[in-house]
Amino acid sequence: MKVYITRRIPDVGINMLVEKGYEVDVNPENRILTKEELIDAVSKKPYDAVLSLLTDTIDADVFDAVPTAKIFANYAVGFNNIDIVTANKRGIVVTNTVATSEEVAEHAVALMFALAKRIVEGDSFVRHGDYKGWDPLLLPGINLEGKTIGLIGGGRIGYKTGRILKYGLGMNVIYHDVKQNEMFEKDLSATYYATIDEVLSQADIVSLHVPLLDSTHHLINKERLALMKPTAFLINTSRGPVVDEEALVEALKQKQIAGAGLDVFEFEPKLTPGLTDLPNVVLTPHIASATAQAREQMSQIAAENIIAVLEGDEPKNKVIV
Ligand code: NAD
Repeated sequence: MKVYITRRIPDVGINMLVEKGYEVDVNPENRILTKEELIDAVSKKPYDAVLSLLTDTIDADVFDAVPTAKIFANYAVGFNNIDIVTANKRGIVVTNTVATSEEVAEHAVALMFALAKRIVEGDSFVRHGDYKGWDPLLLPGINLEGKTIGLIGGGRIGYKTGRILKYGLGMNVIYHDVKQNEMFEKDLSATYYATIDEVLSQADIVSLHVPLLDSTHHLINKERLALMKPTAFLINTSRGPVVDEEALVEALKQKQIAGAGLDVFEFEPKLTPGLTDLPNVVLTPHIASATAQAREQMSQIAAENIIAVLEGDEPKNKVIV
């Protein structure tokens, strides 16, 4: 069996594949391959499996280049980089790595604290030598305790985020999803709203936890930003295009909302003009799941999914849309 890995990942998964007796080729360059390079690489041998990253666009052209591949194991929770419909039509299995809920939830909460406590502004103030002594009016923040968190997407990460905020800070949890999740009501005493608009207008912090689908593209747009409280923060650790970033920059400029914490960007790694000029924005480079432990788990899970499919078993993390 032959496996192609589109970029270096932690060894644990690679070793599992090698120990299985598979021939494993890893992109030798530690960078994202262009579409042409990816097609060229996967067409070199009759690979049985491809381990892809969220930065690889996997579409019909790539499937055509490696018609022997039975599985594309994505090294990510998200799978918006893969044309699932075409994969399904061709009988190609797509899997993801559901290993990062705690990491992403903690990162979302870290962004909330960074905004509420003005951590990044304060750090920059001190580093620039502007701190001349204690000042009662310097950089006032807000408390999170008792505030209302509005979760958009009530799945794994949304739940973990709600749990930290409910039990750590006594926050009131409200959420919107296309389907109700009884764990939210049972464990978090959360209130479900069938429409997103009610959550947006009531929440002190809105945190996005939906996958990127056609139905969630620009889910947060100009009209929806206008529904949010002027004191509210928007947190996005899901996928950039869930938010119309130009509309967000405008809403922040106009102080329609108080701040935003973003780990993902609509055109990443490019940023929408104006975003970095805003002091009420905290930006991180898509690192919400970046703990060594999670990265290793993801490597292991991706390998397990490949082994399952190549050995004729059902993989644990098959993506079904
Ligand atoms: P999940 O599948 O457990 O939950 C997603 C939820 O969104 C589901 O409950 C689903 O019903 C809901 N949903 C789907 N379409 C919707 C819509 N139109 N409106 C409202 N709700 C909708 O996924 P998860 O593990 O919680 O992960 C969520 C997303 O987080 C992933 O798809 C991925 O894109 C992103 N993510 C980002 C990072 C990062 O590094 N920033 C890491 C992991 C995951």
